[in-house]
Amino acid sequence: METALAHMCQGLALYDSSGKLIFSNHRLTHLLPGPSDRLHAGIDMAEVMELMGLPRNRVKQLHRRLSTHREPDIPTRAVLQNSDGRLISIATQPIPEGGWVTTFEDVTEYQAAELKLELLARQDPLTGLANRAFLRRRLEEAVARMKRGIPFALLLLDIKDFSSINDALGETAGDELLKSIAQRLKKQVREIDTVARLDGDKFAILQCNPELPKNTEALASRLMECFRIPYQIGDQSIIAFVSLGIAIGGGDGNNPHELLKNADMALARAKQSLLPCYSFFNAEIDSHLKAQRELENDLYEASRRGEFSLHYQPIVNIQTGQIIGFETLLRWWHPTRGWVPPAEFVPVAEECGLIVSIGAWVLRTACLQAAAWPPNWYVAVNLSALQFQDGLLPTTVAQALALAGLDPHRLELEVTESVLLRDDEANLDILSQLREMGVRISLDDFGTGYSSLSYLRTFRFDKLKIDRSFVKDLPQSDSAKKIVKAITGLGQSFGICIVAEGVETRQQLEYLQRHGCDEVQGYLLGYPQPPEEILDAYLRTSDTKAVTE
Ligand code: C2E
Ligand code: CA
Ligand code: CA
Repeated sequence: METALAHMCQGLALYDSSGKLIFSNHRLTHLLPGPSDRLHAGIDMAEVMELMGLPRNRVKQLHRRLSTHREPDIPTRAVLQNSDGRLISIATQPIPEGGWVTTFEDVTEYQAAELKLELLARQDPLTGLANRAFLRRRLEEAVARMKRGIPFALLLLDIKDFSSINDALGETAGDELLKSIAQRLKKQVREIDTVARLDGDKFAILQCNPELPKNTEALASRLMECFRIPYQIGDQSIIAFVSLGIAIGGGDGNNPHELLKNADMALARAKQSLLPCYSFFNAEIDSHLKAQRELENDLYEASRRGEFSLHYQPIVNIQTGQIIGFETLLRWWHPTRGWVPPAEFVPVAEECGLIVSIGAWVLRTACLQAAAWPPNWYVAVNLSALQFQDGLLPTTVAQALALAGLDPHRLELEVTESVLLRDDEANLDILSQLREMGVRISLDDFGTGYSSLSYLRTFRFDKLKIDRSFVKDLPQSDSAKKIVKAITGLGQSFGICIVAEGVETRQQLEYLQRHGCDEVQGYLLGYPQPPEEILDAYLRTSDTKAVTE
């Protein structure tokens, strides 16, 4: 009996009915994190626990449970961490004659092994990515979250011609390639996303909480991009191309099975293309994005082939009727599309970043052309918020002015609120730099967007341009009249010049004249025209007084 007690795996403690220690085995002394001299018969249960290095509050809880629980044959169990960081499993069993017997066991290694097992059950052993079963679980969770309004997307990837790569290189190299692909995929996603290998050369990404379809498309193009870089396997350089199929949670399926099936259909469509590409299951999103991509490609070509030109629309002093300047409006003539309106291509150029180089070209060209005008005319140029991002705008503007030999006072830059919305501090600094150069800054489309009056406090704009949508409803609409009056009032009290755009009728002009507007622009006063024509027409009639009188 003694031998058995001394060599059993667990530490053992026997207590009498008042909770005092009667007996403990030798193993128990091994489990104590500290010295064992205080462990002897007569100390009570709480003291034993304390010597075991178990947390006090948990020990108290355990005691409370023990004092109310006296059913024989049902032990009270707990796993607690001791002061050494080891996990101790404790089982206390009441004895029918009164008293308790408690066993203690160190389960630290056992738990670690269990965790490892769990990990193995959800991991792909080759790449360490999630396996199919785990992806399914994640998809189920994503579907549940989607019902609470959190979106997700499922992307399926297939490596083009992987089997021929595998045949040519041998299986070991093939495995190396799959591992490298897994590494690359993981770099393209965030912590909350899941990357899985389904089987062979088929991978999946569960993208959590993206802004749809924007972020998903961005991820897809990042993936396409990263696969263009060759893999170095041994002394071989290999390019693995990828096809991608995308399903969006909700619209493209409400359960893992449906989503996987639809993403697979999208993948099949992507694989039909000779070039690596991605495809959305949803036909509308797919064709919209494809059209966008085509427009983007055409825009790249347009800059290269010089398909852009500038038109200028006169801006007139409302009191004198004299032309005082022109707004530069970008025009694009495409050989098959014809004229593409800026409202269509400017947002695309912004999305792909092309607007920065196009915008610089607009600035240079407008300054050069304006330098040939009478010196009392200014030129206004529209800026996109994107042009503020690289911090080079002041240099670009200074160069454009210097190249043309144009007086900075003759240049006006039109910005929208979006410039102040993003990254206020840096952009405000750029605006101030431009102002110091002598360039005027006007706030375009005023009255739309947020139109926070605080913008007028954070930066001293030289001009406010009342948006066309308000002018359009003059003078019939009461609310339009009130807004226009309010803006001209603001202009007067802040000492800011007010310009109304989109003036098409004499009644609109008269209303604006009566309510303190300073400058007007619109079809009534002149259409946007190519530079040759404005010079001809306006030099001949030197002013448009007839219109405003
Ligand atoms: P915006 O800055 O508000 O430009 C004024 C727009 O109103 C121009 O349209 C102009 O042709 C139009 N417009 C002028 N008078 C009238 C009128 O009496 N009635 C009506 N219905 N429309 C009038 P456009 O040329 O189509 O330009 C649209 C927008 O594209 C511009 O709005 C501007 O935001 C952007 N854009 C144009 N050129 C550039 C550029 O060089 N750079 C940047 N970043 N954006 C530009
Ligand atoms: Ca404008
Ligand atoms: Ca405008």
